[in-house]
Amino acid sequence: MNPEPLLTVRDLKTWYPIRRGVLNRAMGFVRAVDGVSFSLEKGRTLGLVGESGCGKTSLGRSLAGLEVPRSGEVLFRGEPVPPGNRRGKIWHKRIQMIFQDPFSSLNPRMTVMDIVTEGMAEHGMLKGSREQAAREVVSRVGLDPDAVFRYPHEFSGGQRQRISVARAVSLNPELVVCDEAVSALDVSVQAQVIRLLKRLQEELALSYLFISHDLAVVSTLSHEVAVMYLGKIVEYGPTAEVLHKPQHPYTQALLSAVPRPGKEKTHRIVLPGEPPSPARPPSGCRFHPRCPQAMEVCRSVDPDARTRGPVQVWCHLY
Ligand code: SF4
Repeated sequence: MNPEPLLTVRDLKTWYPIRRGVLNRAMGFVRAVDGVSFSLEKGRTLGLVGESGCGKTSLGRSLAGLEVPRSGEVLFRGEPVPPGNRRGKIWHKRIQMIFQDPFSSLNPRMTVMDIVTEGMAEHGMLKGSREQAAREVVSRVGLDPDAVFRYPHEFSGGQRQRISVARAVSLNPELVVCDEAVSALDVSVQAQVIRLLKRLQEELALSYLFISHDLAVVSTLSHEVAVMYLGKIVEYGPTAEVLHKPQHPYTQALLSAVPRPGKEKTHRIVLPGEPPSPARPPSGCRFHPRCPQAMEVCRSVDPDARTRGPVQVWCHLY
C-alpha cells in the first residue's frame, strides 16, 4: 500500500472579493487560485511556475495559512489542515514560509538571536539558553554563530535570506513554502542559497513548494513541476519531462523564452496580448485567447486533465 503523500491539495480555490461603493459590497471576485489539485511527497520539491499574477503566490500563502481559501481541501498525511484563520500553533510549526524579500521580511529592530528563536520560544522548543539555540540554528545555515548578536541591516542580501531560512527551519517544519525565495539575489548568491536549501532538505527530510517565475532556478531544485496559468495548473509532472518535453502550448511558450546552454536555439513563441484578468477569466480553456493552437472547442469547454506518460496536461490537443 502506498503511504499517504505529505501534502494533498484538492480543488483549492482562493478568491478575493472586489469591494465597491459606500456599503463596501463584494461586486465580484478575483479568482487567484481557481481549482488547484496536486500532491507532494515527503522530502521532495514541487516547483510552481508561471507568469506574475497567475496565482502561484496566493496558492503558497493559502497553504502557509496566510490566506483563507474559499473552498477545497488541504490534507497533511491525510489529515485535514484547517484554513489560516482557524489554524492552531501546531500547523504553523509544521508549515513554514520563506518570502522573496529578505529586506522587508525580517524585523529590523530584532537581533538575529531573537528572530531565529522567537518561534521556538513560542512553541516551547527552547531546551537550553536562547543564545545557544540561536547559535546552533545560524550555524546550520552557514552563518557565523556570533552573527546572533547583530541586526538584519548588518548583513548582505544572501546572508539575510540565510537568516530567513534559519527562522523557518528552527521550528523543524515538514513543509516549507519558498515564495520567490532567491529571486531578489544575484546569480552567484542564488546558487549558494539553492545549495543550502538542498542540503537542508537532505538533512531534515524537508518538502518544499518552490514558487518561482525563473524556470532555470526551478529546474535545479524541483523533482516535480506544476505550471500555472490564470489560477489553474495546466501541466504537472516530473521536472525533466515537463521542462524538456513541454506538451501544453503555454508551457511551450514559457520555455521558448528561456535560453538553454548547450541546446539548439529554439524558435521563440511570442504570445499575443496580456494574460486576461483573473476577475473575468475567459470561458472554456482560459488560455484560448492567446493560444497559437486554439480550436473551436477550446472557446467553450474547459479541458480535463489528460495523462500523457508521467505528465498530466490540461489541453484539448491530447
Ligand atoms: Fe490551446 Fe485549446 Fe489546448 Fe487551451 S485547450 S491550450 S486553447 S489547444
